Amino acid sequence: MIDRATIERILDAAQIVDVIQEFVPLKKRGVNYLGLCPFHNEKTPSFTVSPSKEIFKCFGCGKVGNSVNFIMEHEHLSYPEALKYLARKYHIEVVEKELSQEELDKQNERESLLVVTAYAARRFSENLFHTDEGVSIGLSYFRERGFRQDTLKKFEVGYSKDKRDAFTNKAIEDGYKQDFLVKTGLSIQHDDRVFDRFSGRVMFPIHSLSGQVLGFGGRILKSDAKTAKYLNSPESEIYHKSRILYGIYQARKMITREDKCYLVEGYTDVMSLHETGIENVVASSGTSLTQEQVRLIKRFTPNITILYDGDAAGIKASLRGIDLVLEEGMNVKIVLLPDGEDPDSYSKKISNEEFTGYIREQETDFIRFKTQLLLEEASNDPVKKAGLIKDVVKSIAVIPEAITRTVYIKECSTLMEVAEPILYQEVNKIRQQKTFQDRNKYPGPEDLPVPPPVMQKQVQGTGNETAYYSEKEIIRLLLRFGAAEFEKISDRISGKEEIRTVADYIVTEITSDELSFDNNICQSIFSEFRFNVEQGLIPGEKQFVKHEDPDISHLSADLLADSHELSRIWREKQTYVETEEMKLKEIVSDVVLKFKSDKIKTKRKEIMSQLEEAVKNNDTENIIALQKRYALLGTALKMISEKLGNRILL
Ligand SMILES: [Zn+2]
Repeated sequence: MIDRATIERILDAAQIVDVIQEFVPLKKRGVNYLGLCPFHNEKTPSFTVSPSKEIFKCFGCGKVGNSVNFIMEHEHLSYPEALKYLARKYHIEVVEKELSQEELDKQNERESLLVVTAYAARRFSENLFHTDEGVSIGLSYFRERGFRQDTLKKFEVGYSKDKRDAFTNKAIEDGYKQDFLVKTGLSIQHDDRVFDRFSGRVMFPIHSLSGQVLGFGGRILKSDAKTAKYLNSPESEIYHKSRILYGIYQARKMITREDKCYLVEGYTDVMSLHETGIENVVASSGTSLTQEQVRLIKRFTPNITILYDGDAAGIKASLRGIDLVLEEGMNVKIVLLPDGEDPDSYSKKISNEEFTGYIREQETDFIRFKTQLLLEEASNDPVKKAGLIKDVVKSIAVIPEAITRTVYIKECSTLMEVAEPILYQEVNKIRQQKTFQDRNKYPGPEDLPVPPPVMQKQVQGTGNETAYYSEKEIIRLLLRFGAAEFEKISDRISGKEEIRTVADYIVTEITSDELSFDNNICQSIFSEFRFNVEQGLIPGEKQFVKHEDPDISHLSADLLADSHELSRIWREKQTYVETEEMKLKEIVSDVVLKFKSDKIKTKRKEIMSQLEEAVKNNDTENIIALQKRYALLGTALKMISEKLGNRILL
């Protein structure tokens, strides 16, 4: 945990143009800066950075936020990670909440292991490019396979010398502790002897999302070797093979940009695809895909395309694993390569244009692919066909989205010549079984008796779009015009004129009617604002744009980004355009009225359902009371409507 004072220092220091310019070239346009959006593909710039508001906004894809949001989004970091990134940039020492001795030891050990793997990667790379053995054996292997120098550097490949303890001895000589060499799995300890795990192999470092080397894959080059062709680092404090994907560090930006991730099998497949210009590619490095790996991809895109070597047996074996990907709600496509080819070999056989063209044309939706593959096999055998239907239905049943399931059921019904209702029935059966199993696994709140409908409504709140709109409008006006003059009032006794601010007016109107916000973030901003106003202070917009709570800063940035626009309510009223400042008093009072009328409408809906319940229970006393309240609120609503003009409210 980063302490509060540090967060404030970081937010104060971060200059948005400075932060963003490191990733996006920006040009000054009037008071703002303009550039090509890094979050979507565009040819004309619509990515705007406002140094005065300290926010960015893309008018193409709608991404918006402050400097921390930008770093989170662009570098795929968590909130604390993004803060630490900015702290490093501005040389701010990060004060964290104290860790226990145990936590400290663990953290220190992790860091020590990362230092060792980073050293090993450097050492192996030096071997590859700058030693006779490395050049003649390792580098010539990569050159023969046609890899370019820039690709080798990009993936930081290397070479481990063909001598039992060459690496271990050098590392110890360079001051690295044997204990850590063994813990990373780079060295193996046997009784009192220590030797290299990877001797005589070309080395592929496996990077974390942020580019730290976590482990290695090593390929033996001797053809007569009695050991496995590929060897990986063992599991360690830093390397968990089920949680990482080879190439994710080099691919992550392009995955976001292209909104798609290609999945291949091997290290050289990843590197070869980069050379063809396809950079959004990762490998599961031999193991079958795990749920953690799927979720890692999902952080960047919901679209995944799997490149398969053209070998029918292999494909069928791996089909089952794909249900896992569907289960995460991802869209899965398949590209089948020609028989006997893998992505590495095939991409080298044909030109880059031919290769990327092939992938584009061959890409098939997974369910369709599976159905066709199995259909070919079942041909006219009815027993086999029944099995096939079950198999395909199982895959459809794991898809979380109902709409997607429906689309697939329609399509498979045509492909397999089975009536839709039968498929629906099967899918629902599987889903019910699954729900039942899950419930038995994790008894949770779903197992409690379902509350009556009235209760449910109250719990859920209204979820009403227009109500949320007026809540946001109130917050926007507070942030943007809080300190501005709402009206002049004269003191009744002294007759002196005083200025009433927009903040004063809104806070008083809302608190005196004891109204609150359904949206938690709006409520938090309002409460903080109100607290300040009651202390005689009017907080500026920056206090919220740079707020330590990321939800608050994000919403504030979003609201302020649009502040040049007229309030929607006001726009509907006017036929000509005036600035908000010119009509501030009218706009503010209209928005407050709209907010109140939305609250009344929500309340009336609640009362109506309570009334229905009371009628059902023959609860006469309650019926009368509720009817009274309902009518009373109706009168209030009518008064507001008259003030606002009916057309807007109805
Ligand atoms: Zn954009």
